Order: sequence, then structure tokens, then C-alpha cells
Amino acid sequence: MRIADALTAARAMGVARLDAQWLLEHLLGRPRSWLLAHDDTELTTAQAADLQAGLARRAAGEPLAYVVGEREFRGLTLQVTPAVLVPRPETELLVDWALEHLPPGAALDVVDLGTGSGAIALALQHERPQARVLASDASAEALAIAQGNAKRLGLAVAFVQGDWWAPLPGRRYALAVSNPPYVAGDDPHLAALTHEPRIALTPEGDGLTAIRRIVAGAPAHLLPGAWLLLEHGHDQADAVQQLLRDAGFEAVQTRNDLAGLPRCTGARLPGEKWCHSAAPHTDGYRGLPHTGGCTPRHAGA
Ligand code: GLN
Repeated sequence: MRIADALTAARAMGVARLDAQWLLEHLLGRPRSWLLAHDDTELTTAQAADLQAGLARRAAGEPLAYVVGEREFRGLTLQVTPAVLVPRPETELLVDWALEHLPPGAALDVVDLGTGSGAIALALQHERPQARVLASDASAEALAIAQGNAKRLGLAVAFVQGDWWAPLPGRRYALAVSNPPYVAGDDPHLAALTHEPRIALTPEGDGLTAIRRIVAGAPAHLLPGAWLLLEHGHDQADAVQQLLRDAGFEAVQTRNDLAGLPRCTGARLPGEKWCHSAAPHTDGYRGLPHTGGCTPRHAGA
């Protein structure tokens, strides 16, 4: 079977051309441009059989990321399996926002709650090598995937197993981020997501249980002036804002995703802004109010 025939066969199975090309790229280790220029290349019997198996999985509705075993997130190639949610482009918004609160060069403690594949934690660690990033997840299987990703990418994120704040060491964090399960238990949308772990998609009930727990635990785990940034459903911004205000947060605000939907809400704990270190700041240091170094009174407070 030639590449051109394989693409025709994919269409007959109801698989989108781009998806079929992506499968072929993986299978042959060639970029799309090569596939297009060499579409008369014969596939080996083994390649044709692998392609057929992948197309059948895709045709049955499995996310392409599971079929090929990986997904790109902020330029990082992450291994993904059905043990973890497939990282979504809208979650990159949460990473962008978190980076605004992580000055380059600052050795701040950051936590990602419910890390799944490790996408958020790994992106932050990659883009802020000096940050000390810790990630938690209740699922041992998910943590194994996240740890594998960290190792492959050479990123020193630390991982702990447990629910939300429960497994975290008694340290206070300068920044907390989370993309928790937030789909309501009876949301019809879940029917289209059956290949992904239900526990990563929905906390059941009204969809806000996990966010309630994260917000409730945040004041005891964050430094004064620290930010908590959360991804949530398109219709949950008001409820999440209220939860944050009720927990004593200030500067409560919501940002829209690229589809224009209110997708992330964040807020700051009141109090004097934390400082990352007792040492004088270096020249490249920006973003925090101190300029002459922090006194021990501020350090880690
Ligand atoms: N945004 C995802 C979806 O609705 C859900 C992700 C999540 O629950 N954190 O497809």
C-alpha cells in the first residue's frame, strides 16, 4: 500500500486527513512535507498493519494523543496514556499567567495541584529553571507518566502523591496553579470524553468540588501576596470568583481563552509580598518590589 492509498483508506474509515497524516508521520518518523512529496512510497506490511490499527482506534473516537502516545504542550513533547488527561491548548493560558508571577531567576516555590501528565509543572520548570516546582496528583499511574516526562525532558520537578494539598510538605508556596476536574457530573459533554480518565474530568456533582477544596486549603499553604490560578469551566467564573473572595483572596480576576471563553480565574492572598531569598538580588532580577535584597524578616515568610 502506498502513502496516497493509505490516506484514501483513512478517509473511507472516517478519519480526518490531518489525523491520518499525523499517524503516518509518527509511524514513518518523517515530517508531513516528506509525506506529501513522497506519497507514492510503499508502506511495509508491518507499517500498513500499524497504521490500520491506529486508524481503527482513531475511528472509534480515541484521542489522537493516546493513539500516537504523545502530545505537544508549550513546545514540550509529553508522553500521554489513558491514565492522564490529554493536555489542552487552553491550559497554556494558565501557564502564561503563572509565568507573569514567576520572575526569571527567582528561586520561588511553586505547586501544581493535580498535575496529570505534568504539563503545567513541566512547562513552568522549563521556562523558569530557577523555580522549585512541586506537583501533586492522587493517581499513582498519572504520577508515573509525569515523572517519566520529567526524566525524559531533564526537568527537576518534584512529585508527591495525594489529593490536592494533602500530601504537600508544610511549606508555603509563592504560587499555586491547578487545572482540576471541573466538568459537572451530569454534563452531556462527558459522553464525548469517555477515553480520558473520568476522575481527571469531573469531580461529579456540580463540578466545583475540587476547586472548593483547592481554594479552601490555599490560605494555609500560600505565602502572603501569593497567587492562586485555576482553570475552570466556561460557565464557572462567577462561582470561582466568589469562592476566592469568600476565602479572603483579593485582586480576583478572570481571563478568557483563545475561544473567548472565561477559562481561568486567579487571585492573590493579602499581605506583604513574599520574597524569594534573603540574598541580595542579582542584576537580572525583576518583578518583585524589593531592590536592595530582602531582610531575613521577609525571607520565606
Ligand atoms: N477542558 C476539558 C474539557 O472540557 C476539561 C478539563 C478538566 O476537567 N480539567 O474537555
